[in-house]
Amino acid sequence: MTVNKLIRKLLKLKGLRVTGFEFCIRNTVLNLWVKPHKNGCLCPRCNRRGGIVHITDVPRVWRDLPVCGCSVLFWYCPREIQCPTHGRVQENIPWAEAYARITYRFEYAMLVYCQIMTQKAAAKILHIADSTLSDMLHRTITRIRDGHRIRGLKCIGIDEISYCKGHKYATIVYDLDRSCVVWVGQGKGRETIDIFFNEVLSDYQKGKIKWACCDMSETYIGAIEDHCSNAILVLDRFHIVKALNEAVDEVRKEQWRKASVDERKALKGLRWLLFKHSSNRSKKQSRILNALHKGNRRIHRAWVLKDEFEQFWDYKAPWAAERFLKGWMTTALKSRLEPIRKFVQTIKKHIGRIIPFIGSRLTNAIGEGLNRIIRIVKNRASGFRTLHAFTDMIFLTVGDLDIPAQIPVKFRAL
Ligand SMILES: [Zn+2]
Repeated sequence: MTVNKLIRKLLKLKGLRVTGFEFCIRNTVLNLWVKPHKNGCLCPRCNRRGGIVHITDVPRVWRDLPVCGCSVLFWYCPREIQCPTHGRVQENIPWAEAYARITYRFEYAMLVYCQIMTQKAAAKILHIADSTLSDMLHRTITRIRDGHRIRGLKCIGIDEISYCKGHKYATIVYDLDRSCVVWVGQGKGRETIDIFFNEVLSDYQKGKIKWACCDMSETYIGAIEDHCSNAILVLDRFHIVKALNEAVDEVRKEQWRKASVDERKALKGLRWLLFKHSSNRSKKQSRILNALHKGNRRIHRAWVLKDEFEQFWDYKAPWAAERFLKGWMTTALKSRLEPIRKFVQTIKKHIGRIIPFIGSRLTNAIGEGLNRIIRIVKNRASGFRTLHAFTDMIFLTVGDLDIPAQIPVKFRAL
């Protein structure tokens, strides 16, 4: 076995031949002169052999996976060929995508590492600078997602997320059936979401959307109702519960401000207790809340209303749920608690978008779950300065396309 063949076997190089090698920079870089197997000269588009029309002596370089702490670089001078169908083209490079500076193997490792660790750690393992890695990652992901189309969208969720310290927001559109992210856009206004509906989806696709779920923001509601004429809009359950909790908390704060020092003792530690769902409370906690009946009437009344409201979600028949909700609203309006009354006004306005929950049980929970993963990715990177870096990571971790799986199978071993 020749040394070149040994290197090829050791490094598991498929589809290419090693014609020479050299170690340099104190044995930290291995330069390999390589050549496509069987002399190459294949058209990258149709894979037919063509005659050579131009040979350069300016080599190109590709970075491959490092081996035992040693960076590996491939050197080769690609030739131009004359394809019978496609004319003058650069020959196919079997180990890398055309115009890429890294090999398929390197791309695959980079994508898989970035899914599970910080880009900084991945850059260290792959022996490249952080900035180079994020640049390469962006190129690779952009190339792979290029031409990818959204398919079979029936059930969408829309939400916003902040991606940078300060107030930079992105709008995220989820496919709730397949639990993945289909689109990310800068900003959280109407113009952002309009881009998605106008430029990304066709009229046919918009007509196919049957369900949509979002929070109570007028922007998203308006956009969904304008663009998706066939969709039934369901307001997200968790956002409604959150709004009610905030109203109850408002009552508590108001009472806290009015209370004397002695009275405040009784109100201590109530905040999180009031938020708890009745099924998660211990007996002791329930006793504390019941004691409020004597301690603070107004907080008690707010809490009882909040607890009663929980029943709404358990209804199976929409008509019964609607009857319950209307009854509840009447009671709540009589409570003379301003924050609760405000909440009732919101519910009243959106009642047609809340009742469909009973039949569909549709929530943005999947979206919220994905949001949590996105937040983990964001915190791991300590925030993103640019939206495109953030978008790359979203599509890499929870996107609708399995990005590492787009690398040819034979290059996917790590
Ligand atoms: Zn061709």
